[in-house]
Amino acid sequence: MAIRAIRGYRTVSKNAACVLAGSISWDIEAESLAEIFWLCQEEREVGRILSIVQIRRWRRAARDRDFDLWLGRLNESLVSVELLNAMRPVLREWVDRDSGALSYRLTQVLTGHGCFGQYLCDMARREQNTACHHCSDDRDTAQHTLFVCPAWSSQRAALQATIGPDITLPAIVRAMLDSQHYWRAVEAFAEVVMSSKEEAERRREAEALDPQRRPRRRPRARHGRDIPP
Ligand SMILES: [Zn+2]
Repeated sequence: MAIRAIRGYRTVSKNAACVLAGSISWDIEAESLAEIFWLCQEEREVGRILSIVQIRRWRRAARDRDFDLWLGRLNESLVSVELLNAMRPVLREWVDRDSGALSYRLTQVLTGHGCFGQYLCDMARREQNTACHHCSDDRDTAQHTLFVCPAWSSQRAALQATIGPDITLPAIVRAMLDSQHYWRAVEAFAEVVMSSKEEAERRREAEALDPQRRPRRRPRARHGRDIPP
């Protein structure tokens, strides 16, 4: 459900998906709801009339406890560590925000699960190695795409001109929460870059299926002379 909400790949961890979807783990929330139910029940049994103020106070306290429990759980996560480290300091703000929706490509950049060499090789098993197809780096990741890959330098410059020079994951998440304008700038980067990477991947797949479309090799030299095409 959380994965669907963030338009993420099925391989995104439960913790990462719940955090991005702004959804407290259901088991934590269920425990709090049950606790409030029994508190109300006890008060009714002794004949006390409950005020809405009291119920709200319990709910607020329960929500604070929910977040503490959730943060504790995220601290122990061994996967999606980079994303969770970026999200933990702003978790409550992220969950309580009233604007900003995640697109399919924005989620790819935030989670690293998407059209990146490392993901396509190590998780999707669709590539022979983790190399970047847009530069000579032997490891294409979300971080490589964001900070390093020269193919996206103009998109990176546009993003930095809007949100500032720091485009580490914690800074990006912070900026997205600071203003809708920044959110849209990060989203625009993700849309342009990831759609180009996806298009390049489709071309590679089509070339692999159709030998006619593969780039032609230069004919071998015979008797020391090149054969004309
Ligand atoms: Zn690259």
